[in-house]
Amino acid sequence: MTSKILEPGQIEQPHGEIPFIRLPERKTLFRQRANRLRGLAEGHTIADFLNFMAQLADVQQGAIDSFPEVFLPDAPMLDLCREHGMPPLPARSWLRNPAWRRGLKRMIAALVAEATPQARDAMVRLYAMTPAELEAFADNILSEQQQSLDLALAPLVAAALQVYWTHMATTLGAQAFGRGDIANLCPVCASPPVASVVRIGGSEQGLRYLHCSLCGTEWHMVRVKCSNCEESKGLAYFGVEGAPETVKAEACDDCGSYLKIVYMEKDPHVEPVADDIATLALDVLMNETGKPRSGPNLMLFSAGLDL
Ligand SMILES: [Zn+2]
Ligand SMILES: [Zn+2]
Repeated sequence: MTSKILEPGQIEQPHGEIPFIRLPERKTLFRQRANRLRGLAEGHTIADFLNFMAQLADVQQGAIDSFPEVFLPDAPMLDLCREHGMPPLPARSWLRNPAWRRGLKRMIAALVAEATPQARDAMVRLYAMTPAELEAFADNILSEQQQSLDLALAPLVAAALQVYWTHMATTLGAQAFGRGDIANLCPVCASPPVASVVRIGGSEQGLRYLHCSLCGTEWHMVRVKCSNCEESKGLAYFGVEGAPETVKAEACDDCGSYLKIVYMEKDPHVEPVADDIATLALDVLMNETGKPRSGPNLMLFSAGLDL
């Protein structure tokens, strides 16, 4: 799927076509996230947390590398979804294959040996949950029912769900998906974005993509619009004084929300999930403006309180 919409002032690329959807590279997505988290952890006030998140991303990579075949929508269903702008793998209503729970247990087994006593307790509790309890937990994460979540367990369950959805999206391939009817939700799984990224290189130079909080798919949205309500007026960009220019909060007066935007031109290694986690100070700053975030970081349901 391609788009010819270019924002004002943008230099048109030779072919005049830009990819609307960028699926994640399943062989490297989680490994690159892990590497970025380790890099950001150096000298960081929450280094231990970032290093744990890096370990978690590493086991996510292991889990997706060995993920089994699962049920996927067939060609007529994908055609129907493309025609009607419907995401074919909707996070909130998709009938999940039990393979995601087996993936979760394998991830726990890989993490538990090096875990802190507190994290190990959480993992043991998670391991003991029944399939029905785990499915209910997953439902709460995917519908952002944060108040009913056991926050110590949430990042692990979310990590397993990310692996499952990334596996499905990348197995189907980019040609399976069309443009979603709702511009601020993922065209693959209808989840909100964790952040947006301004990319560099080739036909994507200077283009902004929203990065799905669940499946890691990126979809194009012009830079001059709010990523939540698509209004162009009243956008403002905030950063923490003295912090690197790689991450800003894009805040909108119209819908009254914000979402972070990361810039590859400032650092080619930025990674939306990792850079979001490492810039909690910016969320604290934005909290003072009274504007909520428009999209979650599924790894951060437990954070912000005691960090
Ligand atoms: Zn998605
Ligand atoms: Zn807005």
